[in-house]
This record gives sequence, C-alpha cells and structure tokens, in this order.
Amino acid sequence: MNIHEFQGKSLLKAYNVDIQEGFIAETPDHAVIAARQIREKFRSEYFVIKAQIHAGGRGKGGGVKLAKSVEEAGMLASKMIGMQLVTPQTGPEGKRVGKVLVAQDVYYKGDSDIREFYVSILLDRNKGRYIVMYSPDGGMSIEEVAEKTPDRIFTEEITPGIGLQPFQCRNIAFILGLSGAAFRNMLKFLEGIHETFTGCDAQLLEINPVLKTSDNRILAVDCKIVLDDNALFRHPDLAAMRDISEEDPAEVEAGNNSLNFVKLDGNVGCMVNGAGLAMATMDIIKLSGGSPANFLDVGGGASAKTVEAGFRIILRDPAVKAILINIFGGIVRCERVANGVVEAYKSVGKINIPVIVRLQGTNAAEAKEIIDNSGLAVISAVSFREAAEKVKEALSER
Ligand code: GDP
Ligand code: MN
Repeated sequence: MNIHEFQGKSLLKAYNVDIQEGFIAETPDHAVIAARQIREKFRSEYFVIKAQIHAGGRGKGGGVKLAKSVEEAGMLASKMIGMQLVTPQTGPEGKRVGKVLVAQDVYYKGDSDIREFYVSILLDRNKGRYIVMYSPDGGMSIEEVAEKTPDRIFTEEITPGIGLQPFQCRNIAFILGLSGAAFRNMLKFLEGIHETFTGCDAQLLEINPVLKTSDNRILAVDCKIVLDDNALFRHPDLAAMRDISEEDPAEVEAGNNSLNFVKLDGNVGCMVNGAGLAMATMDIIKLSGGSPANFLDVGGGASAKTVEAGFRIILRDPAVKAILINIFGGIVRCERVANGVVEAYKSVGKINIPVIVRLQGTNAAEAKEIIDNSGLAVISAVSFREAAEKVKEALSER
C-alpha cells in the first residue's frame, strides 16, 4: 500500500528522524494558516508547496513550488489544489491534487552549503535481503544516476535478525563524504529510517533528497513509503492511511470482491481461476496474436457473483475487444461455473464484445452444453488451443 509524503514523514518523525516540517492543507485559506504557523514555529521565511499525490517526479511536473511569502503560499496552493498534475510517473492523464503540504524551506533561501543525497531501503530479490541503497548524487532521478553513472550508487546489505549495524552506517556516512556534526546526524538518520522501515513493516522506503543543510542537519525532504499489504493487519493505524482516491478504481473493486486483479494494457480481458493458469492464459493470448488486458484470478469458487464482478471490472476498460474465460473445474464443478457465467452474463446486460468460455475438468461436457444452449453470444471452446483460436477470430472480426 502506498501512502502520501506527509503521512510517511509523520512516521519518520515518530521514529526520531528529522524531517522538513510542514502542515497539510486542503484549501488555500488553510495553506495561508499553515504558512503562518511554519513561520512562527520554524526558522523559515520561505515555504514550499507540495502536491500530495501517489507519484514521484512532482518537482518536474510543477507539483513542488517555492513561495516567498505567506500570501504567495496561499496563491500557489489555490493553483495547485484541484489541478490535474502530470509527472513522469503519472501517465499522460495525470492525477488530481486533493491536498498540498505546506512545508518549511530547508534550503534556507538557496544557501550554497547544502548537499542532496539519495537513500532508500528496499528488497534485493537476488540476494533475498533488504539493502540500503544510497548515492551522493541525490535530488535528481535515481534512474538517471543508475543509467549514466552506476558507480555513484552504493549498497549496504542488511542481515536479517541483526539489522543495520553501526559500522555500516558509518561506512555510508563516510562514502557520502560527511564529517563532524553532519556525519553524526547521518548515523542517527540511518538508524531512524531503518527503525521506521522495520517498525511499520514497510517494503520500500525511499528518501530523495536527503538534505544536509547549511547548519549540518540531516533531513528527509521527500518521503516515499510502501507498506507491506500482508502485514497491515498488525497496523490498523497505518491501514487507516489508505487513500482510495489514489488507487485504480478497477483494482479497488477487485479487492472488495476478493479477486486478484492487475490491469495491463492489452485488448483481451481474461478471467481465470488460479494464478498459474492465469499466466498460461496470458501466454496463449499472446501466441494467438492478442495481448492480455489484465490478469484476473477469480480464485477457487468462481460463483455467479465472482464471475459477475469479474465481468464488470474487465468491462470498465474500453480497450477490451474480447473476453476469455478459462476455468479449470477441480474443486468447483464446471456446470456450476457455466451456470454462473450465463447468469452473470444476463445480469451484467449488453456485453457487446465476444466472450469465449473454456471450462475443463469435472462435468466439462455438461458445462459446454449449458454454454452452447444458453442462447447468449457466448462461444465455448474445449481445448486451450481452440480457445486461443477463437480469441484470434473474435479479434480479427472487430
Ligand atoms: P518529487 O519531485 O516528487 O521527488 O518531490 P521532492 O519532495 O523530492 O521535491 C522536488 C524538489 O523540490 C527537490 O529535489 C528540491 O530541489 C526542491 N525542494 C524541496 N524542498 C525544498 C525547499 O525547502 N526549498 C527549496 N528551495 N527547494 C526545495
Ligand atoms: Mn523526491
């Protein structure tokens, strides 16, 4: 689960990590009040207005702006709130900005004695371990650093059960070129982000930039945290940070119906039971010349209700030109699924793209009969290859 920058920063703060402080605002008036409070509470004459959306690269898209007065903070907030923000990570349609973070200017009016680093904790799947990934070249896109100057990216491996060790933190601070108070503050910072990461059961924590201020503080200026969905039951307070408006509506609906759904960008919708069969189905769609519009695992049951939810979710996508239902009746009998498909098809109403159904397993013959005799525009297929061919035909007729 993704959370917003301001939420991530509140978690960091709870674990004693120094952050760029700020207040959240949903209206320009609130932004003005927030700016006044920042002026009083923190050493800051300038303010930064930051759009809160679940995507990075906001600076590049105009979602991070410097305000040189309280009035300007209000003015920038009024422009930003409600805008459709496009960044390199949002796609061309962008994301609507509902809230802004009004933060203190920690660059102290463009002071020159500052440095920006990149620090993250993430899973290295090859090593099967979490690592601290860091670079002295923060502030810019880390993908760019990785591509152009990979030697400027460093890692430190975290041993499970032992955690990030003090000597490793010293190594990081040393490689980042720090000394004195900034060096010591970096040790505290690293310990704090590691504790945040483990304490929250995060699966990714990325801070870019980490800022060394001109008075040698080490601050999290930005914060991206992805929480592990499988551990959320242990953290009701973190689960409550979910912002559904940021999520793909089809994936939210799938989640509500306990379906495993991942949207893809092809033209054939698929509804399958079991992840392995779903992967094989996507392969055969590719082989037949189509491309899958989604991954959808309806699980073991495949009742009329789940099939109906599956239809509705798939049909949200205007790119879908055909639907392939591929169900293996092992635990569930095929004729039950067939009846479910017919029932769901009727209750969804006006599905004007071809639906190809392949049911194999217990009572497959009866199931095929039910589909063939349903009087609906549903095409049945017996073998996997036949299903693929029918998908191909359906696509070429469109
Ligand atoms: P992102 O673009 O979504 O990654 O958002 P960030 O929070 O990383 O902010 C983008 C950029 O805004 C940073 O790299 C900084 O250059 C700039 N920025 C952020 N906070 C401040 C600030 O307090 N003062 C100034 N002058 N610039 C800031
Ligand atoms: Mn950033």
